[in-house]
Amino acid sequence: MKYRYLNWIIILVGTALPIIIDTIADNHGDHYPFIWSIALIPSIIIIFRYPSWNVVIGTAIFYSLFELTIELNQEGFTQFSLDLLTLVLGIIVNWSILLTVGYLRIKTEKLVRKVEEMTITDPLTGVYNRRYFDLYLEHAIPLSKRMSNSLILVMFDIDHFKKVNDTYGHVCGDYALKHITNVIKRNVRDTDVVIRMGGEEFAILLLETSLEEGSEIAEHVRKAVEDSNFIYNDQQVPITISLGLNEYKSEKVDQFIEKTDQALYKAKANGRNQLVVSSDSSNSFCFC
Ligand code: GH3
Ligand code: MG
Ligand code: MG
Repeated sequence: MKYRYLNWIIILVGTALPIIIDTIADNHGDHYPFIWSIALIPSIIIIFRYPSWNVVIGTAIFYSLFELTIELNQEGFTQFSLDLLTLVLGIIVNWSILLTVGYLRIKTEKLVRKVEEMTITDPLTGVYNRRYFDLYLEHAIPLSKRMSNSLILVMFDIDHFKKVNDTYGHVCGDYALKHITNVIKRNVRDTDVVIRMGGEEFAILLLETSLEEGSEIAEHVRKAVEDSNFIYNDQQVPITISLGLNEYKSEKVDQFIEKTDQALYKAKANGRNQLVVSSDSSNSFCFC
C-alpha cells in the first residue's frame, strides 16, 4: 500500500518535472528536448504496474503527445530546426526504450503466471493440486467463520483402481483419471473447487452450501461417474467412486480433513460406490 502511493508520487513528479524544467528553460529562450527522458521514469513505473501491450503503447503515445504539445507550443520553436529534429529523435529513442522494457516485463509476467499456475495445478488432470487445497482452505475457513457461511468438503477415491491398472494397464488408468475429472467438472458448479489430492484421491470444496445441498451434489457426482461410459480400447471399463462428506464446524483444518477422510473410509468399508456424510455433521444421514 505504502509503495503504491510512492509509485504514484514518482509518476506525478516524473510527469511534472520535465514541464517545469522546460518552462524555466524556455523563459531563457533555450530548448532542451532531452529533458523529456525524465518522463521515462513514470512511464516505466506504469508499465511495471500494469504489464500489458495496451498500457505500453498507451503510455508511449501519451508521453510523446504530451511532449510534442508542450514543446511545439513554446515560443521560438521553429518547425524545421535542430530542436525539432532532437525532439523527434528523443521520442523515437524513448519509444524504443519503452517497447523493450514493455516486452521484457510482459514476458516475465507471463512466465511468472505460468509457473504460479503450474505449482497449483495437477499436470495429468488439469484440476488444482493439494498445494492449492491448503492455500485455499487458509482463506476459505476464516471467511466462512466471519460470514457464518457453510463450507462443505467432499473427498472421494476411485474404487478398486489398482484392478483397473492391473487389468487394462497404467495408461488406461491415466485416461480414467482424466475421464473422471471431466465428469466431475461437468457435474459441479463453477464456484466449486475440484482438487486432485494425490493418486486416485480427489476433493471438492463447496462454498456457501448447506449440508443437504452438498449431499445432493455429492450423490449426483457419484451417480454421474457410475453412469459415465468410460471406453478404453473399445472396451467398457466400469468405474465407481466412494465419497465422504463433512461440514466445517470451526475445528482445526486437520480435524476437518480427518473427519471427511473417516467418512470416506466408512463408504469404502460399507461396500464402496456410495456417499457417507460425517456423523459429526448436523442432521447426519447416509446415502447407503
Ligand atoms: P480402494 O477401492 O480401496 O480405493 O482400492 P484401490 O485399488 O483403488 O486402492 P489402492 O490404494 O490399493 O490402489 C490405488 C492405485 O492407484 C494404485 C496406484 O497404482 C494407482 N494410481 C495412483 N496414481 C495413479 C496415476 O497417476 N495413474 C495411474 N494410472 N494409477 C495411479
Ligand atoms: Mg481407490
Ligand atoms: Mg486411494
